[in-house]
Amino acid sequence: MKIDINDKFKEECGIVGILSKKKFNLSSMMFYSLNALQHRGQESCGITYSDGEKLICEKDMGLVSEVFSKDNHKEAIGFSAIGHVRYSTYGESTITNAQPILDDYTYGQIALAHNGNLTNAAIIKKHLTESGFKFNTATDSEVILKLIQKKYDSSIEKTLKLVANHITGGYAVVILTKDSLYAMRDTNGIRPLCIGKFNDGYIVCSESCALDIVGGEFIRDVYPGEIIKISKDGIETINSIKNPSCHTCAFEYIYFARQDSVIDGISVYKSRLKAGELLYKECPADGDIVVGIPDSGIAAALGYSKASSIPYETGFVRNNFIGRTFISPLQNKREEALTAKLNVIKGNVQGKRVIVVDDSIVRGTTCKKIISLLKEAGAKEIHFRLASPIIKSPCYLGINTKCKKELIGSSMSVEEINDYIGANSLGYISIEGLLTCLRKETACLKCFK
Ligand code: SF4
Repeated sequence: MKIDINDKFKEECGIVGILSKKKFNLSSMMFYSLNALQHRGQESCGITYSDGEKLICEKDMGLVSEVFSKDNHKEAIGFSAIGHVRYSTYGESTITNAQPILDDYTYGQIALAHNGNLTNAAIIKKHLTESGFKFNTATDSEVILKLIQKKYDSSIEKTLKLVANHITGGYAVVILTKDSLYAMRDTNGIRPLCIGKFNDGYIVCSESCALDIVGGEFIRDVYPGEIIKISKDGIETINSIKNPSCHTCAFEYIYFARQDSVIDGISVYKSRLKAGELLYKECPADGDIVVGIPDSGIAAALGYSKASSIPYETGFVRNNFIGRTFISPLQNKREEALTAKLNVIKGNVQGKRVIVVDDSIVRGTTCKKIISLLKEAGAKEIHFRLASPIIKSPCYLGINTKCKKELIGSSMSVEEINDYIGANSLGYISIEGLLTCLRKETACLKCFK
């Protein structure tokens, strides 16, 4: 068994779709946009593009920069493409399960890239298998593709509406045919998906940072339950729901998304900054400095510092080049790897009362180690603050979480967690406080309950 050294919820894939009126070299646009979503999945990546006649798929294990710099990589010349970066939440991390998935049906080729998890995939797959469908991958994404074939009713547009009525869960999907690009989002809008514009066409992607990087202009988010068709004629909504309510995954703002992204109208950076400010109001601490854990704890720490007028100080330097290192699950090896990844700036914390701000606690092992590193460096007091509410339950909507018993917040009180991690005090933002930061009446908050 291999495990990631990070004691965090895991990202859950990133998707991109591009369609242009003119044929052009899609490779560089797909490369940069997928590369901007690399934080959402680092196991495998791929693109499928249309040259106007047929769909061509290229995918492999590894990072975008590794896969698309290989000698055998061919330029993708065409009108449209979809792309995917994968972190496996359903099905093993293998090349067979890499996306996009391309299938050839009686009515033509179709490719799909998917972010999220279908909660009824197993039952649909069982029915499809019983009616003779053969699956080539172990992903729930292929369930959508096979369901399209099973439900096909005179046009893809009609069929996608039927399919959307059958699948449940949190998902954002891009689908490519020879001449059109489709995008769909689950009825609660759990997983993000936005639309942008460039010179001759449109781009759809998981986060706005992926369209910024290619000079795209943000148009809007895909609405919950909406299905859009993008073709040479422009954008058309082919399915929508009345008064959609957007329950975006709160963890997109807390940890997953890049802080330069704007999701469902909320700046990820500003939401983290605000969370830090509210954290101070809800859980004040006396200290000499505020320190953020890189990378996603930094903005919240700046917010805490701003609200408290306690100076922000850099306490840790992160070595990003160890980010994909997978190591033995033995606890001592995990701790060794964390030390290699995060180093304390001793001179900045020695003799100080340090308020540490991080995004979340999952098992508690990482913050226990962070606290011991700070103690070794001579910190006088350590007050740990979290910009997420207590995580109590696993997620079934596209995030790879631990089982309930591995979530420290599911079985221990705040006092018990504090004793376990060895801090002088511990505080979490409340669920109400988090919603205030998101300026939202609704968000998915299931893992905090
Ligand atoms: S349960 Fe938690 S991690 Fe899962 S979608 Fe909801 S907020 Fe996000």
